[in-house]
Amino acid sequence: MKSQFSPESLMMSHGYDPKLSEGAIKCPIFQTSTFVFNSAEEGKAFFEVAYGLREQEKDEKLGLIYSRLNNPDLEILENRLCLWDEAEDCAVFESGMSAISTCLMEFLKPGDLLLYSSPVYGGTDHFINHILTKFGIHVVGFYPDSTKEEIESIIIDSGHSDRLAMIYIETPANPTNSLIDMQMCRQIADQFAKEEQPVYLAVDNTYMGPLWQHPLKHGADFVLYSATKYIGGHSDVIAGACLGSKENMTRIKGLRTFLGNMAGPWTGWLLMRSLETLKARMELQALNAAKVAEFLRSHPSINKVYYMGFLKEDNPAQYEIFERQCNAAGAMISFEIEGGEAEAFQFINQLKLVKLAVSLGSTESLIQHPATMTHAGVDPGEKQRIGIKENLIRLSVGVENPDDLIWDLKQALTLELDLA
Ligand SMILES: *Cc1c(COP(=O)(O)O)cnc(C)c1O
Repeated sequence: MKSQFSPESLMMSHGYDPKLSEGAIKCPIFQTSTFVFNSAEEGKAFFEVAYGLREQEKDEKLGLIYSRLNNPDLEILENRLCLWDEAEDCAVFESGMSAISTCLMEFLKPGDLLLYSSPVYGGTDHFINHILTKFGIHVVGFYPDSTKEEIESIIIDSGHSDRLAMIYIETPANPTNSLIDMQMCRQIADQFAKEEQPVYLAVDNTYMGPLWQHPLKHGADFVLYSATKYIGGHSDVIAGACLGSKENMTRIKGLRTFLGNMAGPWTGWLLMRSLETLKARMELQALNAAKVAEFLRSHPSINKVYYMGFLKEDNPAQYEIFERQCNAAGAMISFEIEGGEAEAFQFINQLKLVKLAVSLGSTESLIQHPATMTHAGVDPGEKQRIGIKENLIRLSVGVENPDDLIWDLKQALTLELDLA
């Protein structure tokens, strides 16, 4: 027996015992709200552990009680997700937003300070600035190009540095692919931590994970995913996940039980199916993206291409971070087209194969216009500051034949030129 199989080899079987399901090779959908106990004593024992009335004994398995607490489709999925990030435990949710909001709510309390990187996902930005603040949590942002000294000043100038409780980042930043140094964030967190107040580092890894970046190895306490994106990968399910230490995940799962925002069995089953092809899909997407990015860079109507595969030439300082914390350039490309909004729209409207939709990480290629779509709510000055120009277009590269994708982009750019 090989001591350690790779995650991609285990995605079809890990954590599932066919003997418990009539020999079915695939984990069935356990479409059930509740589970029958073998005896009253067993029911009592399961609740004691689930409600933390006593410690779980060494070989004691957590019994199935009720699908808001646990369900085989979720537990097996969580075990499989742990393999990619080498996490101790994982909690899955019915959306990325519920994973993110549950993590923030469990580890922040009134009076605490949250430091976050800007831009973050629009829903996250709203939750931080409009929901957390209602509960008396102080929030302050920094930019991907802020230096360590600048970030320290931001924390101190907030007047709440003694209550810094969490640093929340998204790297690479959407839509410009700017990288934030996780090691630096860890150092800052440790600098402000006190014995009675740890400073947690949470990383939204949706853009790069779980294949291309593993934040727990770079000092993060939490990895968060919108599993709607690469993990689900087929634009047919909304889901989320949070990974970290056993201890922290016990707290997250506790709050999840009481908010009731766990993923349902059908979502769990869909994601297990998706995980079987995760590596094959993501690797093909990254290969396609490299070809598409080369094409875009060589086209006279494209002014600038934001693609991590070009960092070595474009930005040595960012490349140093890239080398340290990413193991591939990913499949997200943003680019500036010659002209403004009108030219960007004309180009997008001409596409035949690439679909005009928000979201990312799916089998089909998706294109959108950040300034008027995903980042429409960002104020004009902030847009300018983070590089969301009127001519910026974001492309999520899928698994199509790359020649077809390039053909499509080229014909749309040619028509665009003719119209000009
Ligand atoms: C989509 C997305 C989210 C939100 O996830 P949902 O599954 O839509 O709730 C959070 N963060 C990032 C980076 C995303 O792309």
